[in-house]
Amino acid sequence: MTDPTRHTDSLTPQRAAAAAAALPVPCPGVDPLTSILPDEPLLMMGAGPVPIPDAVAKANSVVINHLGDTMARVIDQVKSMARYVFQTRSNWVLGVAGPGSAAMEMAVSNLAWPGTRVLSIVNGFFSGRMAEMARRVGAEVATLDVADREIASLDARAQAIERTRPEVITVVHGETSNTVWNRQLQDIVRLAKAAGALVVVDAVCTLSTMPLEMDAWGIDVVITGGQKGLSSIPGVSLIAFSDAAWERVRARTAPNTHWCLDATLAENFWHNAGYHYTAPVSGVLALHEALRLVCTETLEKRFARHQRCSLALQNGVTALGLELYTPETCRLSSVVGIALPASVTPRDVCDHISRQYQVEIAGSFGLPIVRIGQMGEQCREHHLFRTVHALGRTMRDLGANVDLPAGVAALEESLSAAR
Ligand SMILES: *Cc1c(COP(=O)(O)O)cnc(C)c1O
Repeated sequence: MTDPTRHTDSLTPQRAAAAAAALPVPCPGVDPLTSILPDEPLLMMGAGPVPIPDAVAKANSVVINHLGDTMARVIDQVKSMARYVFQTRSNWVLGVAGPGSAAMEMAVSNLAWPGTRVLSIVNGFFSGRMAEMARRVGAEVATLDVADREIASLDARAQAIERTRPEVITVVHGETSNTVWNRQLQDIVRLAKAAGALVVVDAVCTLSTMPLEMDAWGIDVVITGGQKGLSSIPGVSLIAFSDAAWERVRARTAPNTHWCLDATLAENFWHNAGYHYTAPVSGVLALHEALRLVCTETLEKRFARHQRCSLALQNGVTALGLELYTPETCRLSSVVGIALPASVTPRDVCDHISRQYQVEIAGSFGLPIVRIGQMGEQCREHHLFRTVHALGRTMRDLGANVDLPAGVAALEESLSAAR
């Protein structure tokens, strides 16, 4: 039998069609995206990804040479804007092709290896993920397990540090899963430094939504994703290492087993305009625009906008007659957790509000709550009104007793009072 793919010069369209018809895996029949996506985009008010500004969406549709002069200029600006957002003067700012988790893994896998003593302060799902990543690189991992909806006391943290003598400590700034804010982050870093440990902070949901000052607080590594506080697309993340952390990365003798996440290889692209892997150029351009918008707004104003919107949302939700999940003492503002009455499940609420009101909110890994994000573009007044209204209507539709006018009124009052 002749192989029709062999003699390409005699591969007429008829022959090619005949060959394709004979392929063992037939072409599937699929629907075009236009018939899959809703006519009107859903309002993304969950725990990320969040709505993106037009400038970000436009940048995300452009492809340029990943190693040309234009890209070099873009990278330079991304790094300097990232330094502002991280509040660091460190040279060691890098981008990561991957989700927030890839940036977490870059931090962990470059600083820890077999035998490294790591202490992970575990407040929930995401801070637990860093402990798991450290275990996977062979580190000796101790955890300080904190009860749901609580933060550990400074005493407990000091004791854990004394007991385990960690070289690296991992901690989350805002634990998105149960909406807990590690509000003593500065004190935790102080304790860690006094004990000679490097501190890795997961700021995926908090960066640019609330104050975090990498240098002034003495943090060694800060990581963030694109699709949360920064309101960029998912898939391109940022990480910054302090000089001390970079020194440890440089001095290690065994290479990082994660080739893509090796910070010394990534440095070649992010600092020397050389090749590591083909950077996600469109995503980097999108991130550039997201960072530029943060700079235009300024961090001070952005923090104030987040605070005002999140508090108004919290007031609106409580006035509906629903309870916030986390006590005020450690309540995160960038993601608001809402306890549900026993008669409805998170799944029912999320499905209904999406289908009936075109608003997306999130459940949370088995907890009896729904979560509404207050990150980046989610903190806009018109989005809040639509969301509180949709949530109130949804609860009513599902037979729960809420005071919808009171919720909307409280939202308005709270927003006006803080204007
Ligand atoms: C979302 C999130 C992550 C994980 O980010 P991905 O982009 O989903 O990998 C990690 N930590 C925190 C605090 C988060 O909110």
